[in-house]
Amino acid sequence: MVQSVTGPIAAGRLGITLMHEHVLVDFIGAREVNPSRYDPDQAFKVALPHLVKVRELGCECVLECTPAYIGRDVRLLKRLADASGLHILTNTGYYGAANDKYLPPHAFTETADQLAARWVREAVHGIDGAAIRPGFMKIGVDEAPLSDVDAKLVRAAATAHRATGLPIASHTTTGAAAMAEIELLDRAGVSAGSFIWVHAHNERETSFHTRAAKGGAWVEFDGVAEDSISRHVELVRHMKTEGLLGRVLLSHDAGWYHVGEPGGGAFRPYTILFTKLIPALAEAGITKDEVRQMLVENPRRALTGA
Ligand SMILES: [Zn+2]
Repeated sequence: MVQSVTGPIAAGRLGITLMHEHVLVDFIGAREVNPSRYDPDQAFKVALPHLVKVRELGCECVLECTPAYIGRDVRLLKRLADASGLHILTNTGYYGAANDKYLPPHAFTETADQLAARWVREAVHGIDGAAIRPGFMKIGVDEAPLSDVDAKLVRAAATAHRATGLPIASHTTTGAAAMAEIELLDRAGVSAGSFIWVHAHNERETSFHTRAAKGGAWVEFDGVAEDSISRHVELVRHMKTEGLLGRVLLSHDAGWYHVGEPGGGAFRPYTILFTKLIPALAEAGITKDEVRQMLVENPRRALTGA
């Protein structure tokens, strides 16, 4: 079973899953972030047609990767799931990238176990007073070597994983940082199969992708966009050559109703993967079954640890 914002669903029913998208983000920082800074009805109206559209393209499940203190709004996500018919998953965890701008003060003062206890509480009791539980963890780290607080977030995620089974998706822009996280998790008794290396496409050195995937980690090439198609095809072909397509995840990292911009600014659609990338992959010799593996089977396994 996987927790969506509307309740538990059987993992076998997830279908095509986008592993990394956003509905709403607020980059004001942990100090000032607040739901009163936006009108949820307006955000709902902006995001809904995009979610309906991706459902029409055959997608059934979207992981919303906006963490707490960057604008995670689980009630908005539940309304959107109900209205679009999509399964939407939300997350627990803290984002330590961007030089800690999105970490609340208690992230610095509490122990890893105390932070883990907060995340486990959300997984067991729900988020922000709603009966809406996370389907995964989302953390984020800056470059290697990991800072003290970033390493603490990884250890907290390990503890919360052991308690809840939730996979750990981590915003990680370099292979060196991903390796450091995988090693910390290993020391905490958590296998790499519970770790999703978010933004792996930002690492230019493909040997890191090979190493991470051979070690059992999930390598997520998100950021699929109009101008990224050849890059994504190249990355997927590399992984196919290495026999590692069974560890690849794909998504857009799109959406983004920007709090603070008029009308939420330019909302990027969740469609390019279907309209541009899949045809380009086919042309490059990636079979239908292999595409299905990356969009259906790998997400299901990443979310359930199966
Ligand atoms: Zn993202």
